[in-house]
Amino acid sequence: MGEDNLSLVLHGIGDMRLEQRPVRKPGQNEVLLKMHSVGICGSDVHYLKNGRIGDFVVKDPMVLGHEASGTVVDVGEGVIHLKKGDRVAVEPGVPCRVCNFCKSGRYNLCSSIFFCATPPDDGSLSRFYVHAADFCYKLPNHVSYEEGALLEPLSVGVHACRRAGVVMGDTVLILGAGPIGLVTLMVAKAAGASRIAITDLDANRLQMASKLGADQTIKVTSRDGKEVADHIRSSFGDPDRTIECTGAESSIQTGIYATKSGGVLVIVGMGKSEITLPIVNALVREVDVRGIFRYANCYPTALELVASGKVDVKPLITHRFKLEQSHDAFEVSASGKDNAIKVMISCEK
Ligand SMILES: [Zn+2]
Ligand SMILES: [Zn+2]
Repeated sequence: MGEDNLSLVLHGIGDMRLEQRPVRKPGQNEVLLKMHSVGICGSDVHYLKNGRIGDFVVKDPMVLGHEASGTVVDVGEGVIHLKKGDRVAVEPGVPCRVCNFCKSGRYNLCSSIFFCATPPDDGSLSRFYVHAADFCYKLPNHVSYEEGALLEPLSVGVHACRRAGVVMGDTVLILGAGPIGLVTLMVAKAAGASRIAITDLDANRLQMASKLGADQTIKVTSRDGKEVADHIRSSFGDPDRTIECTGAESSIQTGIYATKSGGVLVIVGMGKSEITLPIVNALVREVDVRGIFRYANCYPTALELVASGKVDVKPLITHRFKLEQSHDAFEVSASGKDNAIKVMISCEK
């Protein structure tokens, strides 16, 4: 196909170009998708600004984007559950399927996973994109493409709540009201949390969190992690589960100090690779500290939450751009101006 396949390609730090890429034919168990909606993620912006995240370094040009949905326009051999015209959400990570992590269900830990827009793997901010069929989820008619794209960050929220063990009646503290903090809030609520408090530096984000169901919002004004924790404990109580979504050192310290003895702190936010933590405080109070990496087996749950109406992700979208306007879209997402939360790009002509 000599078709228009305009794609957003990252060449290096601050160097992002709209270019034509060839359209690939879908192989065994693959589908060719006409892309519809792709959300901009903090990681896309991070690669644009820094050219790397930890050990993942952009060395060759890479297509950005991994929060995506589209329409099946061609199917490869062996694809049975999808046909042309199906609208799908794209789970961006495709693991090897045969290692022990994959076999035991923790495929997010697979060492040879392909993941959209993690170097060297191309993302899906293109007119057309080929993906493994079994990592494409058919959307019911009443679930929009934009909601389909938002299943990606929502899956992070699902995984975070699972790792935290959020169950009915738990009190939950969420640190950070950015896109991931907000989806985690909605998932925790759907999971039956009785009361949820959320923190942020930004009053607008807290306002959005209230709208989405937070029982208490706490504006952080101090860089002293213990002081913030003391404030949370006196006004909200000790949370059973804390989910940290900023990656800031002081906020992670708050997470340890605030969590109830015997509770769990899950750290989702990624910041500095080495930080100082009040570890003895966590040890002697048996606060479990856990990390998360992306998600596994969360897309079906995320889709059920949206399709059933238990979670409404639509208010997260604050800005919309066309693929041709990608530079503007990234500028808004990176600066957070106009109270940007989730910036969505439409890849349709
Ligand atoms: Zn993302
Ligand atoms: Zn594997």
